[in-house]
Amino acid sequence: MINWLKSLSYKTFAHGIHPDEHKEETRHIGIQRLPFAPELILPLAQHFGKPSKAIVHVGQEVVRGEPLAEADGFLSVPLHAPASGVIKGIELKPSARGPKTEAIVLKVYTGEAQRILYGMPRDIETLTQEELLQAIQDSGMVGLGGAGFPSHAKLKIPAGHEVDTLIVNGCECEPYLTTDDRLMREHPEQLLQGIRIAMKASGAKRAIVGIEDNKMEAIKSLQAHYADIDDIKVEPVQTKYPQGSEKLLIKVLLGREVPSGGFPFQIGAVVQNVATLAELGQLLPQTQGLIERLITITGPGIKKPGNYIVPLGTPLRFILEQIGVADDSGYMIFGGPMMGSTVSFLDVPVLKQVSGLLVLNQGAAQDSSEKIYPCIKCARCVDACPVLLNPSMLGQLAAKRYYETMAKQYHLMDCFECGCCSYVCPSNIPLVQYFRIAKSINREKAAK
Ligand code: SF4
Ligand code: SF4
Repeated sequence: MINWLKSLSYKTFAHGIHPDEHKEETRHIGIQRLPFAPELILPLAQHFGKPSKAIVHVGQEVVRGEPLAEADGFLSVPLHAPASGVIKGIELKPSARGPKTEAIVLKVYTGEAQRILYGMPRDIETLTQEELLQAIQDSGMVGLGGAGFPSHAKLKIPAGHEVDTLIVNGCECEPYLTTDDRLMREHPEQLLQGIRIAMKASGAKRAIVGIEDNKMEAIKSLQAHYADIDDIKVEPVQTKYPQGSEKLLIKVLLGREVPSGGFPFQIGAVVQNVATLAELGQLLPQTQGLIERLITITGPGIKKPGNYIVPLGTPLRFILEQIGVADDSGYMIFGGPMMGSTVSFLDVPVLKQVSGLLVLNQGAAQDSSEKIYPCIKCARCVDACPVLLNPSMLGQLAAKRYYETMAKQYHLMDCFECGCCSYVCPSNIPLVQYFRIAKSINREKAAK
């Protein structure tokens, strides 16, 4: 009762939902490391923006950490070798969603010690703001919370704007996922280094780390580590989905509202998630690139759930062989159950923006394919939507394919696909899927 009352004293946003958290399965288990797969698949498009351009050729030997592909313009990042080995091919490979995409295939020298042989120590304190932004792009870093947006592009504040606050997103509101929780507890110094880098790169004068109050160990750990630092504050917020949405978190922590269709820098803020900053804090002082990431591997279909460091490009099939799957395992999701994407093939690799692998059992898979019933106008979706849209009306317009009306009169583009409306709908209407389709059709029309 006391904890519940205390939670109410922390800030939060209006509406939202409280799905089962399922974090207990992994949050108490320390970070582990998976071995190297014999072959890694490295798509050139694993970030928002232009795909990177391969700079290696078939048959070339590479060392762990060496660049394999370079950035193609500002909104692009390079790609680095997650292991020492030889380039086996540059070819079309299946992606998680189905269509094939160009990828570098690396045959790993599995007998090697696999030390990182590329990069050297440097004093990042001496770098100018521009040099720091270039160093972030050179590291191949993208938002590891799932968005995959190049980090240097987000931290470069456009001319004529200034940001005063870096919001460090430690909410991790998706059910099942616990990587940020573990990173905050196990690597507070690395995170601190990343926060300093992001503050300097963006020009922010202070940082606020927002953490949901279901991660009290992480909150206490960071509050203790950063106790003597005046410009970094650790602030608990109420546990509620989707608290980790950047616009909602800014509103909760700063009381400022990002304009519809706008960006956080327009109201003086920039947001980075914990995993991204912790990686930057480790990589930049060593002049290294992103070659692996921490992911939560969990769900009722997994035998050894936990948080594992996985080399980028590791095929899903290899992961499942290492971790073990239950006999009744059902379908798989990259990311969390609310905003993640279903995986259709076992030969797809872990990419930079994959924060989790969730394997459900057949019972859960059946639940998700329940029959769809007509809307009963109960308004539960309206009460759940955190950006105050009318999902019921949007759903009816989507069924009639009135996509333009959805955008022009009912603010479809403000929907950030959190899935709260689908989650609460008693008629099992897949509202968020309708909205994704409507948005992509509108985008295609606009591009034409
Ligand atoms: S998916 Fe879109 S419409 Fe549905 S609750 Fe989330 S923001 Fe609102
Ligand atoms: S929750 Fe479902 S049934 Fe209820 S109003 Fe929304 S769309 Fe209709």
